[in-house]
Amino acid sequence: MFLNGRVAIVTGASRGIGKAIALAMAGAQADIVVNYAGRADAAEETAAAIRNMGRRALVYQADVADTAQVQGMVDAAIAEFGKVDILVNNAGITRDNLILRMKEEDWDAVLQVNLKSAFNTIKAVARPMVKARYGRIINVSSVVGLYGNAGQANYAAAKAGLIGLTKSMAKELGPRNITVNAVAPGFIMTDMTEQLSAEAREKMTASIALQRLGKPEDVAGLVAFLASDFCSYITGQVIAVDGGIVM
Ligand code: NAD
Repeated sequence: MFLNGRVAIVTGASRGIGKAIALAMAGAQADIVVNYAGRADAAEETAAAIRNMGRRALVYQADVADTAQVQGMVDAAIAEFGKVDILVNNAGITRDNLILRMKEEDWDAVLQVNLKSAFNTIKAVARPMVKARYGRIINVSSVVGLYGNAGQANYAAAKAGLIGLTKSMAKELGPRNITVNAVAPGFIMTDMTEQLSAEAREKMTASIALQRLGKPEDVAGLVAFLASDFCSYITGQVIAVDGGIVM
């Protein structure tokens, strides 16, 4: 299997896209650090599914916006597995509003959890990856980071920031055999998107070439592929996984 012997940290892996990524990577024979912030039982469910596939799982609670907690998670991963080969920055939140109504705390929270988090995690894994002369970092951005969206200024800024971070890290860490790429999901059915009205869903579906909303597994396959040695010569890229919205 194409991730055999690899160790991956997946942030926000208790549900949604992060859970699908953790399971896809375990299916390809990687051991997984299942990071979560909220519900321990949901994270334990992800871990149980990984162990059922014969892989090892370490469940670790850490707020990705908190530098010390992230360092603790990376230290625990190395203590448990001896290394970290793959980092997937998946954890994210939205606090949508029009700019005139957007509270400063909603701007700050979205930038902290979606962007500062990646600074924290990359900084913590960079040293062991540089030492090992191997690493795969995948940042989960969004098509909103590429094209913007009314009512999501904070989220768009954070996801666009992740793309700048991806390209800069690809240049900085490339000489050490560490690739850094981003994926930009379109509209994927998860807890994050379930509150949309039927009308909004219909409108969205009509704008997608494949005429359906995405599933978490649609994103997970791409992330696992980018983490593999099939992609040893791909870095600094942003790949949309959106069913064909903008081409
Ligand atoms: P979700 O809300 O279902 O899952 C988000 C995960 O992040 C949860 O496990 C949550 O516990 C975790 N999380 C939130 N704050 C955290 C924190 N401070 N520390 C650690 N973990 C934290 O959402 P999802 O749809 O699965 O989204 C996953 C990623 O994909 C996010 O970065 C999101 O922005 C991105 N994305 C989603 C869509 C979509 O349509 N669903 C589209 C584009 C991008």
